[in-house]
Amino acid sequence: RGKRAFIAGIADDNGYGWAIAKSLAAAGAEILVGTWVPALNIFETSLRRGKFDESRVLPDGSLMEITKVYPLDAVYDTPEDVPEDVKSNKRYAGSSKWTVKEVAESVKEDFGSIDILVHSLANGPEVSKPLLETSRYGYLAAVSASSYSYVSLLKHFVPIMNPGGASISLTYIAAERIIPGYGGGMSSAKAALESDTKVLAFEAGRKHRVRVNTISAGPLRSRAAKAIGFIDMMIDYSSENAPLQKELSAEEVGNAAAFLASPLASAITGTVLYVDNGLNAMGVGV
Ligand code: NAD
Repeated sequence: RGKRAFIAGIADDNGYGWAIAKSLAAAGAEILVGTWVPALNIFETSLRRGKFDESRVLPDGSLMEITKVYPLDAVYDTPEDVPEDVKSNKRYAGSSKWTVKEVAESVKEDFGSIDILVHSLANGPEVSKPLLETSRYGYLAAVSASSYSYVSLLKHFVPIMNPGGASISLTYIAAERIIPGYGGGMSSAKAALESDTKVLAFEAGRKHRVRVNTISAGPLRSRAAKAIGFIDMMIDYSSENAPLQKELSAEEVGNAAAFLASPLASAITGTVLYVDNGLNAMGVGV
């Protein structure tokens, strides 16, 4: 039987989640997607109208199939956690069962189990503010959407993950080095995500024989990255200073994720894998 993957954090064909889905599909996996509730409508409409067909093409010429798209808001674990104003918000009221626990239950009902869990989402409402100017609300919101969302996803999905399964998230070098401009507590959130990768690797490994790794990706012009505001500068900086002087493609990150999710990586867990043209290894730019 082919493997089944659930990828949280796809709302268009520009981000890392989409590229990871493609690499996994090319390797024969069945693709399930979790899409942020407010972005669900436009994503599903675009998918249905063929707007992504060009970017659905796999190396063998076939089109990537997405078996099912689930609405998801990863900052809420159960229906009891959802505040009234969100519940009654027009964009949310049109969908149901989108808290993390309910999505895991729906996937279990629909498919029984999965083999691969991918977390490709982040959000920091104050990302453009320096840390020194970040509010408590902004900081905690960044950690909630970008770090705890992963703990929660794994917690709710790991009981339906087959032994030998693998889980992957996306992180950024700002967790460990100073990247001015990556503010609002997003650097803190990525540091938490990287530390949690180790602890979760231990817990999920011992209890469920599931591997947990994170990819520290170089800069990509995704929707989320454009919102931060300095992505073109980071891409230029990398092209100038990294050991490999080329632009990073989302597909290169997708392929690394497919490797980490495959039996080729059966002894790899608890790691941060850099897929960044080697930029992390530089001490000074030259
Ligand atoms: P993206 O915009 O394609 O993906 C982010 C997704 O998160 C979006 O689809 C958005 O709808 C979703 N999302 C936001 N809040 C959510 C919530 N509460 N519940 C569910 N979904 C939610 O952008 P991307 O850059 O591909 O981001 C994917 C991952 O890659 C993120 O973790 C990001 O931090 C990481 N990353 C990106 C870069 C880069 O340069 N783009 C570099 C390193 C790491």
